Amino acid sequence: MTNEELWRAVLGEIELSISKANFITWFKNTTITSNSGGRIIIGVPNGFAKEWLENKYNSYIYKALRSFQGDVKEVACVIQNIGNFQEIKNREVDAVRAPQVNFKKAGVSPAKELPLESVLEEANLNPRYVFEKFIVGENNELARAACYAVSQNPGKIYNPLFIYGGVGLGKTHLLQAIGNEIIKNFPEKKIRYATSEKFTTELIDSIKSQKIAFFKEKYQKMDLLIIDDIQFLSGKEKTQQEFFHIFNALYQLNKQIVISSDRPPKAIPTLEERLRSRFEGGMIADIGKPDLETRMAILRSKLAEKGFFLDEDSIKFIAENIKSNIRELEGALSRVIASCEMDNISPDIKYIERVLSELISSGKRKGINYKHLIKAVSEYYEISDVVLMSKGRRREVVRPRQIAMYLLRSELQASYPGIGELFGGRDHTTALHAYEKISREVSENEKLQEDITILKERIYNI
Ligand code: ADP
Ligand code: MG
Repeated sequence: MTNEELWRAVLGEIELSISKANFITWFKNTTITSNSGGRIIIGVPNGFAKEWLENKYNSYIYKALRSFQGDVKEVACVIQNIGNFQEIKNREVDAVRAPQVNFKKAGVSPAKELPLESVLEEANLNPRYVFEKFIVGENNELARAACYAVSQNPGKIYNPLFIYGGVGLGKTHLLQAIGNEIIKNFPEKKIRYATSEKFTTELIDSIKSQKIAFFKEKYQKMDLLIIDDIQFLSGKEKTQQEFFHIFNALYQLNKQIVISSDRPPKAIPTLEERLRSRFEGGMIADIGKPDLETRMAILRSKLAEKGFFLDEDSIKFIAENIKSNIRELEGALSRVIASCEMDNISPDIKYIERVLSELISSGKRKGINYKHLIKAVSEYYEISDVVLMSKGRRREVVRPRQIAMYLLRSELQASYPGIGELFGGRDHTTALHAYEKISREVSENEKLQEDITILKERIYNI
């Protein structure tokens, strides 16, 4: 077996045991550079890959190598500058290798001082969202690492960078952290953060006021373009076309593009094929739900930030009960702090349980069935349950029905065919469509968020 064959076989093994995004990120452009006396040296494209392969994937590599070549005793990585990575200077590689804490001291040089408000405003960035305040857990380490790498080498490592994950899991935080970090390190770079709605509105306004050339020029001169929640471009053909042109112009100039979405590119309906393949040509990293440890670490960090004390048992109690996402976790903590301050007490678990009773539903969840849910929705919208579950298509019924379908799925994990059946023998795609539509809207429509929160409270209080 030649080294090349051996490595190909090893990669084949590893590919089966880790996620595709991780595999591509860390194993792309790797080779065996030497193999003798049981010592294998792997050439990797940068310090970043070296660190991850040596620390995180070492056992995978070792195991796979051993299964093809029994005498392997030692594996090491060396940095080999190849392809795209040639441009990365050693200094930059070191920066990329820096662990999650940012060691750069503030005020070392004028460039490192806090950016002016006007710069942040122009870039549309919130200075609160920085890497230092982002807690790393297994659920987000890949996304965080990729974002950090991009912030140290914009346009050079992963372009475009595509981050996806559910609501409230830290996408916006990470995307904006890239912008804030780049402003700090490269103050001359032009940066623009926009949600896809904002991008669309600006585009439409510029068409109306005949300033489309100005709009394009503005975006095409960016060094870093961040578009958040790209799934909302779904179905907006004209906007997608313009975005495609801007994307290409920036991409050809090696300007960094970062995109987020609530799902991977292939799952965004009615996304132009050429945009999809552009996104898939870069780096894709996901953010999952945080585990208990990570949720606790996040609570500790927010407490420190707010200068408020809670003992470990209380922290654990909150983290164990608020699981769905970090935005809700933060909301729960704010509620506890506000109540304590109002009542002027230091809380115990009983107190916290009472303050959070509406949010904590896990225990009560047992015993809730679809009837409770239908009852809550029909009462809330003042429609009889018979009408709600019928085939009627009146406007005032369609929306509550979609919300009921959404809740059946999200709260009771009902199957789509099951939901379809319940609502007058509809097709499962109707249920799927309703679930997706409402999920999408929940993240951007505050009124709907409120409705859903109230509905959940009612459902669990029945
Ligand atoms: P998304 O854009 O994915 O919906 P956000 O980035 O808006 O989520 O995150 C929701 C809230 O949770 C924000 O206030 C953010 O600062 C916070 N947050 C998310 N992830 C983390 C994390 N890993 N560490 C600290 N705070 C986090
Ligand atoms: Mg967001």
